[in-house]
Amino acid sequence: LPFADLDLAPEILKGLHEAGYVRCTPIQEKSLPITLKGKDIAAQAQTGSGKTAVFLVTIFQKLCGQKELADACHALILAPTRELALQIQADAELLGKYLPLRTAAIYGGVGYQTQIEALKQGAHVVIATPGRLIDLMKQGLFRPQDVSLLVIDEADRMLDMGFVKDLRYIMGKLPPYSRRQTMLFSATLSLRVLELTYQYMNVPEEVVI
Ligand code: AMP
Repeated sequence: LPFADLDLAPEILKGLHEAGYVRCTPIQEKSLPITLKGKDIAAQAQTGSGKTAVFLVTIFQKLCGQKELADACHALILAPTRELALQIQADAELLGKYLPLRTAAIYGGVGYQTQIEALKQGAHVVIATPGRLIDLMKQGLFRPQDVSLLVIDEADRMLDMGFVKDLRYIMGKLPPYSRRQTMLFSATLSLRVLELTYQYMNVPEEVVI
């Protein structure tokens, strides 16, 4: 499926084409028609499958369609590690090159100042590891009330790393699942991952490739 057939905003298509994305990978072809309709998904996808573009394109298309985008976090992407968070941010900057969106990467092990600045400037898309995000939430520096899109990337790895309590804390502070779109990606849709999806998602469609 060519991206050009997906009814995307021209700025998104231009970013995709410049990055060399012309045709969807299998996970993109199966997921995008669902997520672009605003539905929740729980997708079984490995690194290298092209899962990042599934959620980034969905976020871009949703936020592009809003006339006045307040300087607040509208899309939150949760990732297990700093490396993954930074990779997602790099992809967001590349694919979203022609969009007026600001991104921030929030992760532990480094100073707070740069991250606080990025949030204060009103990052629309925040890519975060759970611990540091909670830290900033508790200080009132990350406000979750405008998040209408939530991504949980590498969910099984997050559970393996012991982030379940943190995930529950964060999801408990966001608008309820009925008022946001949630996209979950995991190498395996194991029972504990599915448990999470049923509690915090709006009857997600399962996508397996
Ligand atoms: P990901 O699984 O999201 O980490 O993506 C794996 C790699 O494939 C990344 O280097 C992407 O830039 C690249 N990629 C993802 N989707 C496409 C596509 N439709 N066409 C070409 N490259 C892609």
